[in-house]
Amino acid sequence: MKATNDCVVSIHYTLTDAAGEVIDTSDGQAPLAYLHGHDQIIPGLENRLAGLEPGATATLAIPAAEAYGSPDPALHVEVPSDQFSSDIELTPGTQVIAEGDGEPAVLTILEVRDRVVVLDANHPLAGKDLTFDVEVISVRRATAAELKHGHVHDGTHGH
Ligand code: ZN
Repeated sequence: MKATNDCVVSIHYTLTDAAGEVIDTSDGQAPLAYLHGHDQIIPGLENRLAGLEPGATATLAIPAAEAYGSPDPALHVEVPSDQFSSDIELTPGTQVIAEGDGEPAVLTILEVRDRVVVLDANHPLAGKDLTFDVEVISVRRATAAELKHGHVHDGTHGH
């Protein structure tokens, strides 16, 4: 069957940036399984996977606007440097994990001043045009429980 809303779609993928650098891949791991039509993956990828069947391969170019959006300068935050644990290297480009109320967030160090570290809370891929090389592994109808929960139940997640 074709990938469409309320299906569980499994794909192998390799994600590269505009320079051809591999950012992420499912190579050597289980395929990524997601619930189509439930905002589980970036919209540009989901739209382009719609209608593909198992066995299909495609190279999908996704502009930043349909991936992680544009970086927002308002998401630059200044944090006193003594708030960082001493094992974190405070240099621009280093990524740190912030544990807040919700999901842990990845922030990137932009600048290190005297006693202040400037962090970028934008998604690390904001502003980047992405390319996904994908292979559709399987498509099946989601179960009623999966639709109710809004996520896939598989070998690693079930109730
Ligand atoms: Zn569940």
